[in-house]
Order: sequence, then C-alpha cells, then structure tokens
Amino acid sequence: MASDKFVMRHIGPRDHEIQEMLNVLGVSTLDELMNQTVPENIRLKQPLKLEDGLTERQYFRKILALAAQNKVYNTYIGMGYYDTITPAVILRNVLENPVWYTSYTPYQAEISQGRLEALLNFQTMVCELTGMEMANASLLDEATAAAEAMVMMHNSRSRAKAKTDANVVWVDEKVWPQTLDVLITRANPLGIELKIADWKNFELNENTFGVIVQYPNSDGQIVDYTSLVKSAHEKEIFVSVAADLLSLSILTPPGEWGADIVFGTSQRFGIPMGYGGPHAAFFASKDAFKRTMPGRIIGVSKDAHGNRALRMALQTREQHIKREKATSNICTSQALLSNMAGFYAVYHGPEGIKQIATRIHCIAALLEKEISALGYTQVNTTYFDTIRFALPRHVKHEDIEWLSLELEMNFRYFENGEVGLSIDETTNLDDINWMIEVFAKAANKPFGKIVDYPTACTIQPEFLRTSAFMQQEVFNKYRSETEMLRYIKKLEHKDISLTHSMIPLGSCTMKLNAATEMLPLSWIEFNGIHPFVPKNQARGYHEMMEELRRDLAEITGFADVSLQPNSGAAGEYAGLMVIRQYHISRGDEHRNVVLIPSSAHGTNPASAVMAGMKVVVTPCDERGNIDVEALRLKAEEFKDTLSCFMVTYPSTHGVYESSITELCEIIHSHGGQVYMDGANMNAQVGLTNPSRIGADVCHLNLHKTFAIPHGGGGPGVGPICVAAHLVEFLPSHPVMNNGHVGITAVSAAPWGSASVLPITYGYIKMLGADGLKRASEIAILNANYIANALKDNYGVLYTGENGRCAHEMILECRHLKAASGISETDISKRLMDYGFHAPTLSFPVHGTLMVEPTESESKQELDRFIEALTGIFNEIQAVASGELDKEDNPLKNAPHTSDVVTADDWNHSYSRQTAVFPLAWLKENKYWPPVGRVDDAFGDRNLVCTCEPIENYK
Ligand SMILES: *Cc1c(COP(=O)(O)O)cnc(C)c1O
Repeated sequence: MASDKFVMRHIGPRDHEIQEMLNVLGVSTLDELMNQTVPENIRLKQPLKLEDGLTERQYFRKILALAAQNKVYNTYIGMGYYDTITPAVILRNVLENPVWYTSYTPYQAEISQGRLEALLNFQTMVCELTGMEMANASLLDEATAAAEAMVMMHNSRSRAKAKTDANVVWVDEKVWPQTLDVLITRANPLGIELKIADWKNFELNENTFGVIVQYPNSDGQIVDYTSLVKSAHEKEIFVSVAADLLSLSILTPPGEWGADIVFGTSQRFGIPMGYGGPHAAFFASKDAFKRTMPGRIIGVSKDAHGNRALRMALQTREQHIKREKATSNICTSQALLSNMAGFYAVYHGPEGIKQIATRIHCIAALLEKEISALGYTQVNTTYFDTIRFALPRHVKHEDIEWLSLELEMNFRYFENGEVGLSIDETTNLDDINWMIEVFAKAANKPFGKIVDYPTACTIQPEFLRTSAFMQQEVFNKYRSETEMLRYIKKLEHKDISLTHSMIPLGSCTMKLNAATEMLPLSWIEFNGIHPFVPKNQARGYHEMMEELRRDLAEITGFADVSLQPNSGAAGEYAGLMVIRQYHISRGDEHRNVVLIPSSAHGTNPASAVMAGMKVVVTPCDERGNIDVEALRLKAEEFKDTLSCFMVTYPSTHGVYESSITELCEIIHSHGGQVYMDGANMNAQVGLTNPSRIGADVCHLNLHKTFAIPHGGGGPGVGPICVAAHLVEFLPSHPVMNNGHVGITAVSAAPWGSASVLPITYGYIKMLGADGLKRASEIAILNANYIANALKDNYGVLYTGENGRCAHEMILECRHLKAASGISETDISKRLMDYGFHAPTLSFPVHGTLMVEPTESESKQELDRFIEALTGIFNEIQAVASGELDKEDNPLKNAPHTSDVVTADDWNHSYSRQTAVFPLAWLKENKYWPPVGRVDDAFGDRNLVCTCEPIENYK
C-alpha cells in the first residue's frame, strides 16, 4: 500500500502483523475471517459506490476549497446564536487538544478528575448566573432543554397535590421559533397539551402543570414576570424560564424572581456559532428537582483515603437502570463545549463577564439613539442586547437588506417588516459605524462617525442585578494566560484519554480522531457562521452536507438522511417519531407498541417512551441471541398495534445473529417497521448494511463509527437514515428550509451540529470505499485477536456460529468473582494502575466487561492490553489461592495513588512495586491516578454539585 494512503495511518496493525494475527486465529486471509464471522445472507455483493480515498494532502485542499465557499459576515440575527471570542488559550489547549477531545464520558471517575472539575466549574457558573440551586453538566441545545424542562415539570406534577392529571403547559409566543417547534414535537406523543399565547393571557387553572417563558424574550424585550410567577405558584404550577446566560450577569436572574427551572444555551461563552452547533445547553433548577433532573450531574464525594474526589452523581437515574421508566434519554451531551464555556468563565471571571455584557448593552443603547435619530422607531422598551426598529414609511426593508449585505452584514428581519440587531462580544467601533451607515443610507440621511465606545446603560434599575456571583476561588484566580494555561494543563494531567492508551470501551468505538479530520473545526469559514444566514453564504457547508448525506445513504443502503439529531439517543427518538408519523399518515395511529430485546441499550426503551410508544421486552436465548420464536409470538400478539422493533446489529452481545433477516420479516409481516440502532455500525460498513439486513430506519453515531471524538461526553451527531417510504417524514425546521418537510424539528439548529460534520466527511473521503471496508475488517480482526488471547482465562461470553465475535466481545468475570471475591469493578480499577481505561462495565450483561479495540489500535497496543488483563488475571488467581490476602490485595486497593505508594508507612501484604509497576513497560509511561477509589454512595447521600468550599467531606 502506498505510504501516503490515509488508511495506513488510520489502521493500527501493519500488513505483516495482520498476517501474524490471522495465523494466531488459524485463518489465512481476512476474507476467510470475514466469511466465518459475517453471515453470508447479509453480505454486500458490490463494493460501496464511493470515491477512492484521498491522501491527507488531497483532502486538505478539498476541504480548504469548500471552506472558501463559505462567507463569514458580521451577523446580528441573534435568535440564540451570537458571535463570540474563544480565548486562544482555550481554543488551542482545550478545543484543539486531544486530551480534552478524545476522552470519554467520566464513568470511571478516578481517571477523569480533570474533566470532572471542569464540568463542576460549568455547573457552578450556571447556578451562580441563573440564581438556581442545582445545574447539570449540559444538555444538547436550548430547544431540547426546553423540552426537557417541560417533561420534568410534567413528571413532577404529583408533588403538587392537585395536579396529578394536569396536562396543559402554557408557552409564551415569544420564545425562539426553534424552541417552540421542538416543544411541539416533544409534547405531542406524550399527550401534553401545548398552549401558545401571550403570557399575559395564559389561563392558568387546575389542568395546567407548567409555564415556559423567555428572558429576554424573542423580541429582545426584558419582561417583568413576577406577577406570572406569583399566580402560577399560587396554583402549584411550575415556571420554566429560557434565559440568556450572559445577560444574567447584569439582569436580575430568574432564580431571584422565583423560577423553578432555568435553561438556555451557553454558546456565547466562547463557543463558535458553527452554523448551528455543537453548543452546550445549560439546565438549572431548584434543589427539589434533583432526582428528576435529566442528563448528568457532577458531584463532590471522597475517595478511599478520605480526600475530595469528584464523580457523576445519582447514577441510578441513568437509562441503563431505569430503561422504560427513565424520564429522559440523554446519554451523550455536550461535555467538551461545557468544559470550554466553564473555562471561559474561569478566564474572564465575574468582573470580565459583567464587562462583556455591559459593553454589549451599551452598544445596543448607542445604536438605539443613533438610529432613532435617523427617523426609525425602536420598539423594545427595555432590552439587553437586541433592538428592534420599525421603519419610517419611506424606507423599505429590502433596501436595508441589500445595503447591509453590501457591507457583509446580516440583520434580522421580522415578519412585520421590522429590523432587529443583536449585538455581541465581537462588535467593534467599525461595526457600529457600518450599522449606522446602512440605516442612514436607507433613510437618505447624513450620519456622523462614532469614535468612542459608549458607556450609557438604559436598562431600568428594577431589572438590574444587584447580587454578586461567581465568588468562588476558581473564577477569581486565573487571569493571565500563563496561569490559565497551567490550570488547563493541571486538570488535563489528571485524566486518561486516547493520547495515553487504548480505551477499550465496548459499544463506544473509541477509534482514531485524525488530526487532518479535526483541523477545519478551527477555521472561521466553518465555525464563524450563524445557522440562519442566507444559504448562499454557506455554499461550502451545503456542498459538504449534500455529499455527506449521499455517502451515508450509500453506506447504510437507505434513501435519505437527516443530520439534525445531536446524539445517538436523539437519533433514536427522531427515528421513532418518523415511524410514528408514517403510521399516522396511513390512518394507523393506534400502532404504538415497540418490541425491544432485553439486551438493548437503555436509551432504546427511554427513547421509545418519549415517542409515546408502549415498550414490550423480548427475551434472548442462552447463546445471547434474540429468541426468534418468542419474538414471533409477541409480533402476533400485538399484530394490530405493532409500531416497530428496535434492534442493534451486530447485537450488543457482540455477535452477528444470522436470524436477523428472519426477525425483520416477522415484524414486516405484522405491519411493523424495523428500527436499527446503528451504534455498532463499525462492524458493518462495507460488509453489510441496515437496508440489506431488512431495517427501515437507523441512526448512526458519527461520534463512534465516523471519527467524531467523544469530547469527554459529547458532542455527538446522530443522523437518521431512512428507506424511501419514510423520507417524507424527516424532521423539518421552522426558520430554515433544510430540505425536509416531515415532522417538526427535533433540534434547535436546522442541520444539527454542522461544524463537526467535516470530521466525518474527511473520514469518509480519506478512507474511500476500500478503506472503510478495511476499517471494519480490522476492527473485527482486532476484536477476535483479543478474544482469542483471553478466552481461556476470562472466557468470552457469546460468539457466533463459528466461534467468532464481531467488533467487540464480552469478557466473563463472574466465575472469577465467585472464586476470589474480585469483582469486575475491581478489575476496572486495577486496570488504571496498568495505565488503561476500563472496558464497558456490566453492560449489557451484569458482572462482565465488554471490550472493543477498534481498527485504530496497533498489534503492540493490543498485546499490551492483553498483557495487562493477563497480569490482572494472575493476581486474581493469587487471591483465589490464598497467596494474596482476600481484602488487602492490589485489586481491592486499586487504583494506587503516588501519595499512597510514597507514604512513609506501607503496611500492605504486597510490595509497592507490585502496586504501581506490575509490568516492566509501565516505568517509561506511567499514568498516576490522582485519587483513590471514589465513594459513590457518600456523594449521593451528601449531594454537592457546585464548587463551593465544602466542610466535613472527610
Ligand atoms: C452509544 C449508544 C447509544 C446512545 O448514543 P448517544 O450518542 O450516547 O446518545 C445507543 N445505543 C447503543 C447501542 C450505544 O452504544
């Protein structure tokens, strides 16, 4: 293979090693291994119709040419997206830093203390600015956060005695149109009646469980909602407020006027607009909601030595445990972006944030004065950053439009002909003068030049914030770039990411996120564009997205693709809503039963409930396969009400079930649709596809299979791919024509998290048809190589008919626990001493570890991992035989911190060397866990989820 081929950089093992590995498995070619692994009846007969892979250099030129077709104008549209300045120290050391972007969701707390602290900063900042008691570590976007608020209020009805049957939520007509649209989508299947009106006309009664308003509202007006809050609370009705986070540094925060829930986007805290995303939504509430709050909450706890340690709190609420009883399906959220927003707050501090907000307001106030003097009428009586002008009779808004475009500016045009300007952090004196020039020329009036930044504030005193915020040390300590850099690095050094070692998390596909794929993310031509600008300013984006949709359709065998969902779980929900609409369009609205195998990921049943479906669980047999006869019986039993079947393929058990086509036929013959969870697509690309298997719709996790990094828990992109009969139901958008006319929106942005799509685009363009297939083959080879090495000590729980696993395998640990008392958790923690992140713990089978190496790991790394797990196996044997103490052993005491092993006393029954250097190669690349084993239960009993100084955590 030519040495400039990207495939040889993306794939770990060299050709001669591939041959060695095949020899170990007793096969002579990759084809032979594929024939033993992937069932014949679903194999693709033709290669993918994609271009040949580009070299990195060729791709770089291609994406540069696309970037050049995007035009970056100054944009004053607002509507939830604002230009912002990402401090370069954060851009370079967080966004562009693989330690931050390749790490995984902090399920393993001990090796995630750095990003946990960054997320705790984010939560603290949100609580402080909103004036609320609790906040989570981010949601997908502002509109879905609104939907989560609605559902949380609905689920909390029973706490208000009189409200257990209430199903009406009143929403002010002046929330963003995209927020309204997503609320409509979510309310409908749950039987929630959404009433949209001017908030002054809300009819609050015993049927009302909640209200939602926006502050400042979609006109930019700051509204005094105290009377609404009062009358709502008198009737035990909850109040949710969408708020502009930046404005809350100068406006009285909703928490101080009684809101129960406050949500919104943290985009303007240094996160580029990115043509719609990714950005982190924030979500804060009163303490009383802590057990029903969606998403992840980071909390403070202690480790085995009594030291402060962070971890995700209240994990029992996760969908994995609650499944169809879960109230939200949030899994991947927006961790990387919330880390960045938190760092922005750390860097600017309370006075910096306040200065930014004040400057923005003062510019708006100046523009009001200057433009009003030209004969325009500003209609917002009090505002933060947004002014809205009615035009004098002789001025046409078309004139304003072309004059502004001439100067490369985008304004907002209201339906009634008024023109809006939303000012942001980047607005400077030139910009101010250009804006005035446009209004002056359109009115045929002379204008003078503004030479000084304005300082006059026009906000009425009763709206001004008087309380202090962000007084915690972390927000008041790092002002110089050197200090900030060192703080970021201090946190980063605590964590394991792909820069250290393989992350063998089954179902998560932690493959290479190539530098060439990542580069365009930092280019202003991709990240500097507002999602609602005229499409001719985003030609490069649209050409890229068209091609990407076509390629993903080819890869899945489907007809069309929606890029809107912002995570895998959001894709599940969107796909199920599409199926629901399909049935409704045929007069089959009663079809609402979804069959889900017991082995499914927890988000599947959670998403199904959100789509208003009734979940019926179907069993697996002792070999881990879906029980065909049981499924047939269920399909017959529910033949009149069957909506669909949700299936993961290859199964979450790591096996290609050959019965899959039969399963799909059974569902179709009973009037149902087949939804395929595409999380395991890394075992399909180029070998088979969801359409071939018999599915009608699937989501893809671009942040698993298609090289978007995991970001420590997001961003994600979960596009849905559908067969021809479902295309007409794909999600539309209320502001932009996104090419689809089906259900209302599922995300705030028309094309979801557009700015990370070049990563997937690059991945596909550089691998090409051959490289993509090769990636799947090597992923399968790597998994079988590990399975073969560990089958005799741990044991591989499930394999296919020829004894092969797919791209991942489940390692059995239960017999080890029975013999030694060492659990799968002990093994996971001990792996940290060996420098590895644990595999997926106890999913989908309790007491096991699921390992997925991916194609990107080299043979030497696989061998290191095998050596580590074998070393741990030997330690377990020593415990079982009594050679090591049952309690005081390196497994139960893992992970070992440097503090513990360098302490003057060491009274364990094993040596310090055994504790921290169990294998020789650790000496040249040792990872030191910063804390000992974290006590989860303690933190849940004493919930603290902000970085207040806390007493008594020992
Ligand atoms: C990861 C995963 C999901 C959820 O995807 P998110 O992007 O985290 O929402 C769903 N199903 C399976 C099988 C997965 O592995």
